[in-house]
Amino acid sequence: MADVLTYVLHYEGAFNKNSLGAVSEAAARAAEIGGTCHAVVVGGDDLSDELCQSLGRYGATKVFRAQGPEGLAQPVVDVMAKVIDENGHGYALFGGGLLGFEIGAGLAARKQAGVTMEVVNVRAEDGKLVAERPILQDSKISVSHYQGDLGIIIGRINAFELHEDGSGPAEVVDVDVEYSPWSTQAKMVKRGEQRGADVDIEGADILVAGGRGLGKAEGFELAEELAKAFGGNTAVAATRAVVDAGWYPYAAQIGQTGKTVSPKLYLAAGISGAIQHKVGMQSSENIIAINKDANAPIFEFSDLGIVGDLNKIMPKLAEAIKAKKGG
Ligand SMILES: Cc1cc2nc3c(=O)[nH]c(=O)nc-3n(C[C@H](O)[C@H](O)[C@H](O)COP(=O)(O)OP(=O)(O)OC[C@H]3O[C@@H](n4cnc5c(N)ncnc54)[C@H](O)[C@@H]3O)c2cc1C
Repeated sequence: MADVLTYVLHYEGAFNKNSLGAVSEAAARAAEIGGTCHAVVVGGDDLSDELCQSLGRYGATKVFRAQGPEGLAQPVVDVMAKVIDENGHGYALFGGGLLGFEIGAGLAARKQAGVTMEVVNVRAEDGKLVAERPILQDSKISVSHYQGDLGIIIGRINAFELHEDGSGPAEVVDVDVEYSPWSTQAKMVKRGEQRGADVDIEGADILVAGGRGLGKAEGFELAEELAKAFGGNTAVAATRAVVDAGWYPYAAQIGQTGKTVSPKLYLAAGISGAIQHKVGMQSSENIIAINKDANAPIFEFSDLGIVGDLNKIMPKLAEAIKAKKGG
């Protein structure tokens, strides 16, 4: 029997979806090994009793609340390490992203514990938790078993689904933490949204979607130019590979762990057409793909396929659309 501790990030009075998914996952897996799910939150006065108690809806039975800077890794490591030392949690399980990965690495070093990042599935086996993560460009799954008193499991962004299990409010416990000297060295100067984070790909009539074939973050300028040429209700979307690489914001991701879209026209540029991407866009009315590899899987479900270098084709296409509109 082991309890599972999760960390929940909040911003402007609301918990983040990635973290709430991790609470649901931690609660479900803890129940399978005879334990319960507890959560850690770190912040200021905006962490009201009511807000913390609301984590009970996702399966947390207890919430450890510490006063401290929100959104920085080292203070969270201090709080989690203290809570684990005092309560003997067997696992720490939380959502990934830059902050989650940094907290996971810090906690693993502090507690001399095993850590697995980018986990997409967690299961119980013989009363213990086992973590699965894709490797080798998602072509294989690596399975992690844990030794020792603590196992750390960090999910891929939004890998864990959020469930409201109808439970009542969680118990809120205030924790006093003396932060390590290095934990207070960094200050949060400003938080803001990434460019394109508010993009509405679900409501767009035309989507120009970019993948790894765009080569680099700046490659998305080609997709933005083409979207501008189409005009009207057109947006730029992306694959998971480029979102994970930080080339485009998560809000634009289509697929199994992103959004499901069904625009009138979906244009894929430099996208291979992996099954996890396909499930998010296959009901588009018309699918056009540009790919330099004639055997790319995306061509199997495209209405029109263009084999060639997108760097040459996309600017020409944008020019042709503008000329057609102008004429
Ligand atoms: C649990 C799980 C969940 C996942 N969820 C998602 C999800 O929600 N969404 C998602 O998209 N993926 C998801 N993935 C990842 C998915 O498996 C693929 O790895 C990803 O979709 C590949 O992205 P890509 O097509 O951009 O890159 P790649 O597969 O690397 O394809 C790049 C393509 O660009 C082409 N190309 C390269 N250069 C050029 C050029 N100059 N001109 C034209 N074409 C070019 C190449 O021929 C290639 O076909 C998930 C994976 C797992 C395991």
